[in-house]
Amino acid sequence: MWLQIASPRAFQDSPELAWGFYGHRLSLYRETVPHAGFELLKRWGKKTINGLSVFTSNVDGQFQKAGFDPALVYDCHGSIHHLQCLAPCREDVWSAEDFLPDVDQDSCRLRNAPPMCPHCGALARPNVLMFGDWAWIERRSASQADRQEKWLSQVSRPVVIELGAGTAIPSVRHFSHRVIHEFGGRLIRINPGEWEVPTRLDVGLPMGAANGLVSIAKILGDEWCSPATGGGDG
Ligand SMILES: [Zn+2]
Repeated sequence: MWLQIASPRAFQDSPELAWGFYGHRLSLYRETVPHAGFELLKRWGKKTINGLSVFTSNVDGQFQKAGFDPALVYDCHGSIHHLQCLAPCREDVWSAEDFLPDVDQDSCRLRNAPPMCPHCGALARPNVLMFGDWAWIERRSASQADRQEKWLSQVSRPVVIELGAGTAIPSVRHFSHRVIHEFGGRLIRINPGEWEVPTRLDVGLPMGAANGLVSIAKILGDEWCSPATGGGDG
């Protein structure tokens, strides 16, 4: 069911059902309050010389919502808070903020009008990478990736804090391992089930993301975890 709905084909065949699924998630993510771990990550970023950069396969926009500078985030599978033309008629990606989905919970169908492409009038869809998706417009994510590559080329001894990235969707794990091999980084893998790490110099914490980050904060102590006073992104 999920595989069928999360596909461009579903937007063509039954747009009210596809938008029911994504509209419901969009509303949920707009209301979600990011957990305390996001604030800790932001503070640690401010205390380090080169700051931080985020690689995420989540499309929920929670890092931006938690107040991370959008210029520091790479949403590798896109963002549900952005739209594109279903066709697509051109390589344009725009904000979904004007769309307020009204979803019938029982039938999972969109009740109001779906968003439309401002250029050609066709149906618009979320700018997220779906299953069997050859029409995903990569433009926004690709420019984020470029920025992140530039940042990576400037840092030394990076630490990857990997949160809840399982082996089922391996994008994040590939990134972690690449930073270790190409940039001499070290890995802290926080994952309740799949916490094994590639080398003895890396650390695996068998717990959830929020708990893992709070546990690290306790070890680092107040100097690293108190709110930053003044200064930029370091
Ligand atoms: Zn269009």
